[in-house]
Amino acid sequence: MAKFNEFFEKVAGGTGLRYDPNNKTLFGMRFGFYLVVNQVQSGSYQLKVMISMAKNGLMPNLAELRSIVKQDKAHFYSVNATGLNVTFTLKSANTWKKAADKATEAINQLPQILSNMGYGTVCSACGQPKEVDGYVIGGAMVSLCPDCFMRKSTDLNYEAQRQDAKPENIPAGIVGAFLGAILGGAAIFAILRLGRVSFILGILMGFCIVTGYSKLAGKMSKTGVTVSIIFAVITTFLVNHFDWALDVAKTERLRMTFWDAVRYIPNLMRVGVIEQKTYLLTFGQIALYNLIGAIIAIASAYSSDKKKFTTGRLTDGR
Ligand SMILES: [Zn+2]
Repeated sequence: MAKFNEFFEKVAGGTGLRYDPNNKTLFGMRFGFYLVVNQVQSGSYQLKVMISMAKNGLMPNLAELRSIVKQDKAHFYSVNATGLNVTFTLKSANTWKKAADKATEAINQLPQILSNMGYGTVCSACGQPKEVDGYVIGGAMVSLCPDCFMRKSTDLNYEAQRQDAKPENIPAGIVGAFLGAILGGAAIFAILRLGRVSFILGILMGFCIVTGYSKLAGKMSKTGVTVSIIFAVITTFLVNHFDWALDVAKTERLRMTFWDAVRYIPNLMRVGVIEQKTYLLTFGQIALYNLIGAIIAIASAYSSDKKKFTTGRLTDGR
């Protein structure tokens, strides 16, 4: 983790941009352009540069911007534009130091090239060539003028209050979590019958349960998290139990149907047909893989739901 801070500090030092360690983002005004720079994906030394810009009041011309990438494939990987927002993806390198050097060179030459083409920085919301600042709004990085930031944060506050005031239908949410648990549990069971446990399926189960809850309850809450985790624990227990029951039902000398086995497993453990230790061990193994994955998925669904309404300014702490 520390490596990423060093990486960003190095690029900041070479470009004069400021570094926000909480958002792993570089930002600032360079030669007339407001740049927001962060990772293409977390864990990667490949960076993307986001600039909101216009040319004499007109939208960016993507074909023209592509020529920058074509002419300098050593530094630029690709360019994309959505409305006024242009994203340059930079080339990376095999070590973080080389990647930082390469990114520094690309970032330092970009404003000059863009200004030669006639572009200038604008606010990403209103498109006016006003002074802008970098903000994190609902988890996304944007550059906005002060007026647009005010308007956006008022809108989001209002939206957050509306969301808070919305009733939460807990019984419906429980039904949703139940349906999600059946779906996720069935997938885990199928893979378990093939003799495998999978961390990814645990995440999938958590996702199914928490999505089921929030869709049917109408919102996500701490109650939703609790309900979801309870369902994940029950599902994990049942998957293990059904796995054993199916094995018992297949053992001819025991002469039991599947549903008999589901009921009589505790008895079979008491009389020693099933070793309790082995039963708990397989439960522990499934729990280790699936339950942890599920809880991660549930927690991240909750925190990203919370993040939807937060606003903040990019800052290097100075
Ligand atoms: Zn604006």
